[in-house]
Amino acid sequence: MKKEKSVKNVISTVSNFFVFFLLAAFVTTCCIMLFVSTLQESIGREFTESEIALAAKITMVNVVMISLAMAAVDYIRRKLTVERPVKRITEATAKMMEGDFSVRIAPTSRVGADDGFNEIIECINKMAEELSGVETLRTDFIVNVSHEMKTPLAVMQNYGTLLQDMSLPEEKRMEYAKAITEASRRLADMMTNVLKLNRLQNQQIYPNPTTFDLGEQLCESLLQYESTWERKNIALDTDIAENVLVCADAELLLLVWNNLFSNAFKFTEEGGRVTLSLTADEEYATVRISDTGCGMTAEVGAHIFEKFYQGDTSRATQGNGLGLALVKRVVDIMEGEIGVESAVGVGTTFTVRIRRNNHGLEETR
Ligand code: ADP
Repeated sequence: MKKEKSVKNVISTVSNFFVFFLLAAFVTTCCIMLFVSTLQESIGREFTESEIALAAKITMVNVVMISLAMAAVDYIRRKLTVERPVKRITEATAKMMEGDFSVRIAPTSRVGADDGFNEIIECINKMAEELSGVETLRTDFIVNVSHEMKTPLAVMQNYGTLLQDMSLPEEKRMEYAKAITEASRRLADMMTNVLKLNRLQNQQIYPNPTTFDLGEQLCESLLQYESTWERKNIALDTDIAENVLVCADAELLLLVWNNLFSNAFKFTEEGGRVTLSLTADEEYATVRISDTGCGMTAEVGAHIFEKFYQGDTSRATQGNGLGLALVKRVVDIMEGEIGVESAVGVGTTFTVRIRRNNHGLEETR
């Protein structure tokens, strides 16, 4: 491989020399012919053949020397301004091919260098940065999933072991069996969410828009939490505009409301209040879900849409940090907007704004 490369280098140097030789010979011959004819005219005599032969030999030697000098200068210039950056770029891309995305290429010095290289270097550095981000996300995701799976699996293992004791009283047996069922439910929920998120992120879900009444869908979702609000004695306030028809994927949108209501009831203490409002104009529908729960700090608020992020670890067993990541993805797919306002100890409001007609989006997707 190296031998092949050095042969190629020799060929390119020799061919460069010939190009310069021809160029120098052509330019010099033209100049000399012009000079000689002007000289003959001005001194009024013809040059003899031997004079011309001598001058031709000297000129030939000069042309060869000039060509050699030009080829040498060009060789050094190419080494410094072309081969060096090319070598650095190929070395860096080879490292990236091996999975090392930490490489960055220093820009070439501006003097005499081709700016095109700096543009390529900038693009490659950006690409490496993006790839290392994706790689971190991927490894983080695997670490998080494995970590989240460990807790319910450990619960199931421990209670399973305890259940093997034949002398266990019936009520303990029931308690352990329930704990195992609950842990397996958590595991199943998490895997369902992971799969949904994965499909949503890889665009494997093709939204299926239908026209439906958004107010009705919100009520349907809210009613699922009736037992929770009754148990926790949470007051409900609803202000739902009538006949707000939207054309969107109902199943995906239901995922958004279910997750937002589930959080509102989860993070609101007994005796608190959850408020739902739906307003709409010609183009957009706006849903606000507020609670008087624990609220969150700005630091927590900045991360809540990240996968597996759980700001409130005291309620970590009641979720898996995937709910809002799913919500955000669905809202993004619908090209809607989601915002959150929250104050610790006061409460939280999530505002979702979606286009009432998502049909057009579908066709362009
Ligand atoms: P989880 O399964 O933990 O609820 P989510 O993705 O639904 O996961 O929420 C991520 C984090 O956002 C929660 O752990 C919590 O800290 C914060 N959060 C979400 N909704 C609320 C809310 N209504 N009130 C206070 N904090 C909230």
